[in-house]
Amino acid sequence: MHILVVNCGSSSIKAAVLDHKSGAPVVELRAERLGEEGKSEARINGGEPFACKTEIRSALAELLPKMVEQMPEGVELGGIGHRMVHGGEKFDGPVRVDEEVLEDLRALTPLAPLHNPANLAGIDVARDLYPDLCHVAVFDTAFHSTLPRRARTYALPEELVKKHNIRKYGFHGTSHAYVASKAAEHLGEDIRNLRIITCHLGSGCSMAAVEYGRSIETSMGMTPLEGLVMGTRSGDLDPGILLHLMREEGLSVDELDRVLNRDSGLKGLSGVGNDMRDIEQRACEGDERCRMAMQVFSHHVRKYIGAYAAVMGGVDAIVFTAGIGENSEVIRHRIAQRLDFLGARFDEERNRDAEVSRENPVAEIHNRRSRVSLLVVATDELHAIAQHTAHLVQERDLTRSEGRTIPVAVSARHVHLTQETVEALFGEGYQLKELRPLSQPGQYACEETVTLVGPKRKLEHVRVLGPARNLNQVEVSRTDEFYLGLDSPVRASGDVANTPGIMLEGTEGRKVELKQGVICAWRHIHMTPDDAEYFGVEDKDIVEVEVGHGTGRRVIFGDVLIRVSPKYKLEMHIDTDEGNAAELSRSSEGALISTEGIARLRHRRVRYDHG
Ligand code: AMP
Repeated sequence: MHILVVNCGSSSIKAAVLDHKSGAPVVELRAERLGEEGKSEARINGGEPFACKTEIRSALAELLPKMVEQMPEGVELGGIGHRMVHGGEKFDGPVRVDEEVLEDLRALTPLAPLHNPANLAGIDVARDLYPDLCHVAVFDTAFHSTLPRRARTYALPEELVKKHNIRKYGFHGTSHAYVASKAAEHLGEDIRNLRIITCHLGSGCSMAAVEYGRSIETSMGMTPLEGLVMGTRSGDLDPGILLHLMREEGLSVDELDRVLNRDSGLKGLSGVGNDMRDIEQRACEGDERCRMAMQVFSHHVRKYIGAYAAVMGGVDAIVFTAGIGENSEVIRHRIAQRLDFLGARFDEERNRDAEVSRENPVAEIHNRRSRVSLLVVATDELHAIAQHTAHLVQERDLTRSEGRTIPVAVSARHVHLTQETVEALFGEGYQLKELRPLSQPGQYACEETVTLVGPKRKLEHVRVLGPARNLNQVEVSRTDEFYLGLDSPVRASGDVANTPGIMLEGTEGRKVELKQGVICAWRHIHMTPDDAEYFGVEDKDIVEVEVGHGTGRRVIFGDVLIRVSPKYKLEMHIDTDEGNAAELSRSSEGALISTEGIARLRHRRVRYDHG
């Protein structure tokens, strides 16, 4: 399938039409210096530059059709993939763009004020031009959505963290994922058996610890400024330096932004600009600042390699990629020499000869006795975006041909409380506070959490869902039950007769002993009467459902309860154990998490008439 991939930056556009399997482009577009009146120019297929409109939207509207016109005969577009820099907490994988997604994307602008608006402009213009094609957004942050809490948390006051969504998001995820999987392919190993350190060293630089296929640490942070020394960005700093500069130099926020993002890194160190080729050349000629720039740059990468090996308890492969990683043997030498203590033995000759391309994307630079593989891998973000896009286009087509699907949400452990219990746990007259709405109309996750005290152990920070109900109910997974030391039945919501009780702890030592109410929620599908008619089911029917198409862990769930009400929204709810079984679960704090998963009704069976 041929996919148009669009990557809109703040002052440039890169786009290509490429085959999603081989990654080979059939036509390419580059536009640069957008926003500079009279200087903006574009090239198609590396040809002669020509002047183009300077404003990003008008430039795109002008250039995309010109580029598409030049596709060879017989090539048809199957879909359009868009690079998005920031997906926030919401997007942990590529997503088909519709009005609802667009609204969520716009809300993320404060997290990436420079990049996301340009990316969004690309989506808007391309959707106007090609409304009938499937548009897919692919996020730089998504691959790092698996970072464990300990790795993504900054030690700042909790109020500030919550107010501003402060956490490590990480970037370059599309590249890290792509080269890690290419490395695994090259080694003939399943990525789920490998611990890989990926070093993306280009104009922007970042590293990732990819443990058994998942990113568990990465060097960029809430913004792309943290971590390694980059072309013009400082990377890691003592935050005290910023305070010092503000006090002593009187620097404003914008001035500081400029210093850190544009005037630092290799450019600040070397004094000759940010291009590693020039810096290497000058260093060879004896320029002391350029030599120092190379040393500082490599030192940081080495330091992170040590750190990531420690975090993963070892490493099987170290990958170098992007402009510097793929091309600079001198930098690779500085980074990878004397790593024998890790089991990585560097081979000077193979390093000198290493060359990678689309056709030969991987070169080995370790010697034959090395336990750890040292690899140079050609990254190709456009190809990765095309692959993700084609996958979602194919999935949509399959869905269309097989009828309507049902969104799946994973419900983490939570409690429903009566107003009386709320007051007993949080104080007289206490009212639950809404944290965020849930997908079922009128339901919300509350700011409040409780501790479940079971016979064996406790579970803290269990989310309260609102509004208050006329029954107390604690919904946990089977794994939670084992942990707490309980044995509760699978029940439909509200059916709590003869279920185990539990102790709840609220604030300031307040406790409530529930006599009953702990259930393992019966997996169910909420739907409206219209939905029920479409699917040919009735309230309390029990059906069989297929979940996890596209995740690689397809599961067919039997005994799924249908719940029909005009108040509901079509959605299947499963718990974290079930979500994990179908590879759908994401970390959550007690609310429903919508997944990219879809379910398909397979069989209608019996009716449930007790509840
Ligand atoms: P990227 O952002 O991946 O295009 O990488 C850009 C960076 O790669 C710039 O710092 C370039 O100077 C650097 N680069 C490209 N080719 C070479 C090379 N042959 N030797 C050293 N650095 C290179």
